[in-house]
Amino acid sequence: MDLMEKLKILGDSAKYDASCASSGSAGRGGSFGKTAVPGLCHTWSADGRCVSLLKVLMTNKCMYHCAYCVNSALRDCPRAEFTPRELCDLTVAFYKRNYVEGLFLSSGIAVSPNRTMANMVETVRLLRAEGFGGYVHMKSIPGADRALLDEAALLCDRMSVNIELPSQKSLLALAPDKSAKAILDPMGYVAGQIFERRDPRAAHQPPPYAPAGQSTQLIVGATPESDRSILRLSEALYRKYALKRVYFSAFMPVVAHPLLPGIKQPPLLREHRLYQADWLMRFYGFSAEEILDDAHPQLDEQLDPKCAWALRNPQFFPVDVATAPLGALLRVPGIGQISARRILSARRYGGLTLEDVKRCGTVMKRAQYFITCRGRAPGIGASANTLRAALLGGASALPSFASQVSLFDPPPGAAFPQLQLVSEVPHAVQYPVSL
Ligand code: SF4
Repeated sequence: MDLMEKLKILGDSAKYDASCASSGSAGRGGSFGKTAVPGLCHTWSADGRCVSLLKVLMTNKCMYHCAYCVNSALRDCPRAEFTPRELCDLTVAFYKRNYVEGLFLSSGIAVSPNRTMANMVETVRLLRAEGFGGYVHMKSIPGADRALLDEAALLCDRMSVNIELPSQKSLLALAPDKSAKAILDPMGYVAGQIFERRDPRAAHQPPPYAPAGQSTQLIVGATPESDRSILRLSEALYRKYALKRVYFSAFMPVVAHPLLPGIKQPPLLREHRLYQADWLMRFYGFSAEEILDDAHPQLDEQLDPKCAWALRNPQFFPVDVATAPLGALLRVPGIGQISARRILSARRYGGLTLEDVKRCGTVMKRAQYFITCRGRAPGIGASANTLRAALLGGASALPSFASQVSLFDPPPGAAFPQLQLVSEVPHAVQYPVSL
């Protein structure tokens, strides 16, 4: 089999791994710039640059029987395997042509975990020996020796091991050769090594060990676990293993199996809502239990998780943009990290007008029902259903700030006495509002 044939098979086999950011993008047609073409994916460097990666499997030969996987031993499909030298030369050649800036390397498990991982490590070792200084993301193979994990972590930027399914029960049913322990052990080991080796006070800094940290992937919709279970698991992974990212991958119905759901389309909206909820946990101070609880185990498909949380927690609102602390501002739908900080900075110079709040980057379409600005709050007294309809742009939409003109509005820029409606502690906000 020639190299191009191998590349076609092994690039195509790798496309269902969502552990890099552009996977799953449908693309918009056109002859170049496609992110959905097999063999290529993108990631973002620490300075915000988008980096193109050659995304391939070392081999799609696999002795495991994961029901959801196109590379499973259960499937009859063309198989191929790169040698470390072939893959190294291919990566260097693509790099020199400016096609890619790095490598995302995963693999089926052929012969044994150690043999598979040794080939992957050898590929990256050859690349580094050639002088390749680009980004490399390598999958850890569950069951491989720790010595191989160490070698990989010293050669690569990012390591990852896919959890795949959200519970041991589901793993047992759909991936009988895998176990939670075999997946979590390498993750825990690498996390521990990263932590131990990052001592800024150490006189002699050890060589970088997986400097871009670890990530993992969870398949969504192949098994019955709720969004709440998935978020709780993600939260635990962030806390316990200091993961950089948990990627969610909507289950692709590309393989027929009696234990898999008979869906026609992957649950992409559910995946999107999970990413939004994940964002709230990582950057907005929400816990998994706040976003979803026993009574609400699934994310709302119509509303983003912050709006849904806001409707269930009227006691937090309205938030006074003139006095609320950062934590409270960040809980307002329509106010993001940047707009919240701009509001904090802008209000130091005087009372904020509605226009000022808008100019800070606030999405007023959502925020207007949850804030007070100069004593006015369109959301006051509205029921949760009315607010929901307003957020969805329905017929029963509330009057917006814009239509609430008051005779007592001060001229733009003039000071205005602020109503002190919001406590400094977001959880203790007192406001006589019933939504
Ligand atoms: S071990 Fe990986 S490649 Fe092999 S069948 Fe399972 S998911 Fe697919």
